[in-house]
Amino acid sequence: MSLHIETPLIESLPLSRQAGRSIWLKLEALQPSGSFKLRGIGLACETYAQQGKRRFVSSSGGNAGVAVAYAGQRLGVPVTVVVPESTTERARNLLRELNAELIVHGASWAEANTLAQSLLDDESAFLHPFDHRLLWRGHASLVDEVARSGFRPDAVVLSVGGGGLLSGVIEGLERNDWGELPVIAVETRGADSLNQALRAGTRITLEAITSIATSLGAKQVCERAFDLARSHDVRSVVVSDRAAVNACERFLDDHRLLVEPACGASLAMAYEGAEALEGFDKVLIVVCGGVTATVDNLREWARVCA
Ligand SMILES: *Cc1c(COP(=O)(O)O)cnc(C)c1O
Repeated sequence: MSLHIETPLIESLPLSRQAGRSIWLKLEALQPSGSFKLRGIGLACETYAQQGKRRFVSSSGGNAGVAVAYAGQRLGVPVTVVVPESTTERARNLLRELNAELIVHGASWAEANTLAQSLLDDESAFLHPFDHRLLWRGHASLVDEVARSGFRPDAVVLSVGGGGLLSGVIEGLERNDWGELPVIAVETRGADSLNQALRAGTRITLEAITSIATSLGAKQVCERAFDLARSHDVRSVVVSDRAAVNACERFLDDHRLLVEPACGASLAMAYEGAEALEGFDKVLIVVCGGVTATVDNLREWARVCA
């Protein structure tokens, strides 16, 4: 029994109409932790528990931290999450509700992460949000489910932060003999570490994250994602925060699901990404989800991005 669920795969009538082609959605927003992250983090936590680890440590105040807290609760393993002072009250509450020990420390993520690392001993495991092979293997299960359904897309659309999802989906495509399927890798401007790395031909580090899509806010993509993006047919696309927020609003109307702008970035391909989807009849969008956004946030972003 895995900690994640098999999510629905549906053909979206409103998005297909809008995009002028068949758009299929893998609804990772419905995972019990609210995002796809539970697939990889769930597998990693299960593996560490079997190896005898007695505590999980995370330094993510976002969907990765929530997935660790959820996995720990399910497995009966205590979880400590260290987050910076900038972490929203909502995120703190989500973590507390899952009975994670919450330590608020430092002005930036780097400081919180340093403290988290110092807590580690032989009996505890650190869960990285995107850079670990167990994570990729777990995320790949998403593609297994699509393959088992009998539906074969012409292209896959997904969002890129640190590149864990991209690495996992490509692993899943390969293990289902779909290695040649193009992947459209979407980032928001200001969180476009993959796009800039591909342009530069080297894994650059962004100076700062200036996008509101905080779940895409990795200053550097992991090496695995960078290598795969160059060895596979990966098409890097950058959208504005505004396009991502617009897509969140329209998706709420169309499918009654609230997702983060990190996910809206991918949905924007159906709403206004005609160019990137050119030539593909059946497109699979990974609806990666996200628990950190509220209707109030969305309204506020719509106002500032207008
Ligand atoms: C983590 C996350 C991403 C980005 O995933 P990476 O593995 O870091 O590339 C995108 N969307 C949501 C909702 C996330 O939680």
